Formats: sequence, structure tokens, C-alpha cells
Amino acid sequence: MRIIRNFINGEFVEAPAKRFDKRSPTTGAVVARVEEADFRIVDSSVSAARHSLSGEWSKFTYSQRKDLLISVADIIGRRTKEFVDAEIADTGKPYALASTLDIPRGAANFRAFADLMLRAPQETWTTETPDGRGAINTVTYAPKGVIAVICPWNLPLLLMTWKVAPALACGNAVVVKPSEETPSTATLLAEVMNEAGIPKGVYNVVHGFGPNSAGEFLTQHPDVDAITFTGESKTGEAIMKSAAVGLRDVSFELGGKNAGIVFADCDFDAAVDGIARATFLNCGQICLGTERVYVERPIFEKFVAALAAKASALKPGDPYSEATTIGPLISREHREKVISYFAKAKFEGATIHAGGHIPEVPLTFANGAWIEPTVWTGLPETSAVIREEIFGPCCHVAPFDAEVEAIARANDSRYGLATSIWTQDVSRANRVARQIRVGIAWVNSWFLRDLRTPFGGAGISGIGREGGTHSLAFYTEMRNVCIKL
Ligand code: NAD
Repeated sequence: MRIIRNFINGEFVEAPAKRFDKRSPTTGAVVARVEEADFRIVDSSVSAARHSLSGEWSKFTYSQRKDLLISVADIIGRRTKEFVDAEIADTGKPYALASTLDIPRGAANFRAFADLMLRAPQETWTTETPDGRGAINTVTYAPKGVIAVICPWNLPLLLMTWKVAPALACGNAVVVKPSEETPSTATLLAEVMNEAGIPKGVYNVVHGFGPNSAGEFLTQHPDVDAITFTGESKTGEAIMKSAAVGLRDVSFELGGKNAGIVFADCDFDAAVDGIARATFLNCGQICLGTERVYVERPIFEKFVAALAAKASALKPGDPYSEATTIGPLISREHREKVISYFAKAKFEGATIHAGGHIPEVPLTFANGAWIEPTVWTGLPETSAVIREEIFGPCCHVAPFDAEVEAIARANDSRYGLATSIWTQDVSRANRVARQIRVGIAWVNSWFLRDLRTPFGGAGISGIGREGGTHSLAFYTEMRNVCIKL
């Protein structure tokens, strides 16, 4: 049995006192035993991070940090197969997805942020003074310090490195708490950090759960300077309370209940493909995914039929088989949540166009967390199915008659992460995109990411923006140096 350990000050620490099982979402079998960090272990990880900030790490130039992060990316590239296998063991996602999205993006994050400090905007102001000599102001960027990185399970390496890469590029030290559901790739990355020559204590990993476990011990730790978190909006509220003590900075990427808007003048096939991808990719477990679709009435019925056909064509099964096009949900517990919305939709009289059940799977997979991709119509906008984040491969499709109505319905949510708009009228696309209250509005695409752009959510979908030089705002302390001449 694989044992997964905490990683502190460049070493894997043995802590067998408390272990929990990690089960495969495809078979339900235990695939690893994870050593849970108690307060003492979390405390030593924070101390190691703090200590590293005044050692060798503080003497690295921006270019040296850049070279180190590029080698991290290179080593992930070289060890891709190990990372893909680890991500599949934890999540059950198809090989085709892990090997083309999760792991390459994990490496790409290090490349994208490696030279962040070399690209930091330079700002200089000359100031008049009564004695006529004047002063010069320049803006400098100092690392923020010890950053707690709290991650979810849906895109484990991708989302974790999206935070770790800019944090290290800016000269910080991190303590990562991966999700209890996906402990493997953060642990494998620890080996890569050592191989690349990242100094001891700069990258640490602690394992465990949220409340009364490693997550809470870390976010409540008084020597953590800032907390970057991706996960549920409710968890964000709990973490914000911890961060309030000591007034620590937070960066939050939270839940979504994203709307897709499809106009009758769209490229029909592209829109169906795009919404299908946005709803079913990663078994619907992507914060940017679409669970509400609004379709202009003239193409409504044709669109629902085409989307339902796409859903029914998805094939669950062995992640390593080329025939498999959809994986399981992350766990049986999460499936209970998703199924409860399937029951609500049925109870409220939804028409089910595809799915709606737990699928028949071969005996080997009978204890997995499989679910059918599902398409509903006919629910009122007040339904919990339309208002709450389900985080499964399902969506509700409703017709609309006017642009203004589509905008109002898309905006009728406390979430505000992403939208996708499908039309061939560029003026309309621009007009609509500017009126939807979200952090990212895609037109005729979805999940098309340029890592230099700002990423984050409005409303209860997040606080702050990360991406490109926007990440400097969170990962550095900007300092104005004023020199009187
Ligand atoms: P979650 O909030 O349950 O857990 C995320 C992490 O927080 C885990 O590591 C967990 O152990 C930890 N945690 C839980 N309670 C804690 C506490 N009180 N203190 C400290 N740590 C705590 O989220 P999840 O179920 O892992 O992920 C799914 C959620 O993440 C969805 O809501 C999804 O929309 C969101 N998400 C958002 C983005 C984004 O970029 N906006 C990206 C991916 C996922």
C-alpha cells in the first residue's frame, strides 16, 4: 500500500499516528494511506517556511528563481507519466484528460510565472519639494512571506501550481494543503522541488482535512502571512474568519453557477460542442462549468436534443481505455450531493432529456462514484437546481426571447465566475459580455485560457484576481521608496 507523507523542510516526515484512506473514485478500493498532519506538524511546516525566507532563498536573484522554476516545469514534463498516473489514481479522470489538460498545465504554470519579477511594472515619480531639490519615488516589490495554499480536488496539480508558481517567483515560501481527496500530485511535486534544487523549507506539504485538521491549523496559524484558497464559497467564509485574526491577506477562487447564453444566430454545432464541454468535462467538476443554459427560442428544441445526444454518447469506464470519455465523480459522498439534486429536479417536475440516474457499469467499477451526464428542462428559475452549485455533469436548459431577458437571467445569481456567449454578431457579443457580472466572459469558446490575463470571480465566486502580473498584487508587498534629493 502506498503511504503518503507530509513534506517539511525538504524531507518526507514519518507521522504514522493518524492515517486516513484514499479511495479510488473508479473502483472504491483504497489506493493510498495518507498521514494526517496534527497541529505540531503544521507548526513545524510554517516554521520551516519562515526560516527559509531568511536563508539561501532570499539571496536568489530574479533570474535565478526564473531558472529554477523552468527546471521544475522541465522535470514535471520529464516525469509526466508519474504525474498522470497519480492524478488518475486520485480522481479517476480519463487518461486523455489528465495527460492533455491537468499535467501539461501544471508544468505550464511554472513557465508562465517564472519571469514574473522580471516583468513587474516599473513606476517612478519625481516629487516637487519646497526647497527645490525634489524627491524620487520608486516602487519595489518584496515577497509577502509565508503563504498558505489551500487547494480543491477537481484539478489538483493545475490549481495548486497556479498558486505555488507565482508565490515562488515572487520569493515567498509556501505551505500547501492539498485536498484530502487528492494528496498525490502535491506530494510528487515535493520530489521535483528537491530535484530542481529549490532550497529546503520553500515548498512544504501538509495533509489532512479542513475543520479541526490540517486546513484549519494552517489557516489559523499566526505566522502565516497570507492565504490563497480555491474551493467552495462556504469554505471561503470560514477561512476568511481565520484570516481576520491578525488581518492576513486572502485571495479566493470560489464556486460558480455559470450561465451559457446561446443566440439563434450562433454557429450551432460549435455552440452545442462548447456547451457540452462546459457541462460534462471532468464529469462537470470544473468551477467554470456551465449548469444553466439559456437558448434563444427559435433553436431551443433543436439545441436541447443535440445537447442530450452529446450527453448520452459519453462513455464511462477504465480511465486508461481510449473508449472512456467521462470519469466518475470524486467520491461516493459527492455523488450523494449530486444525486440529491437529481431527485429535486424530478420532484419539481423537470423533463429529463438525458441521464438522471446512476449508470450501469462493469462489476470492477461497481463501487465507484459514477453518474450519468444529465440534461433537464422545465424547472422554474427559483429551483435549487438552478440556483445552487451542483458540481456534477448536469445542466438545465431554458428558452429566452430577448437579449435583455437572457442578461437578466444570467445575472440572477449570487455567484459571478464565468459565462460563455454564443453568437456570430460581434457587436452583440461585446454588448452582452460587458453586462454580465462575472470575472471572465467567453465568446464562442469556453475555458480558453491565456495565463497572462486576470482570473477570478465576482460576487460569492471570489476575492481578488490572479494571473500574469496581476498576481503581484497578492504575492508581493509593494513598497514605495521615496528618496529626498
Ligand atoms: P472545499 O471548499 O470543500 O475544500 C477545498 C479545500 O479547503 C480542501 O483542501 C479542504 O480540506 C479545505 N478546507 C475545508 N474546510 C476548511 C476550513 N474550515 N479551513 C481550512 N481549510 C478548509 O472545496 P472542494 O470540494 O475541494 O472543491 C470544489 C469547490 O471548489 C467547488 O465549489 C468549485 O466551484 C470550487 N472551485 C473553484 C475554482 C475557481 O477557480 N474559482 C476552481 C476549482 C474549484
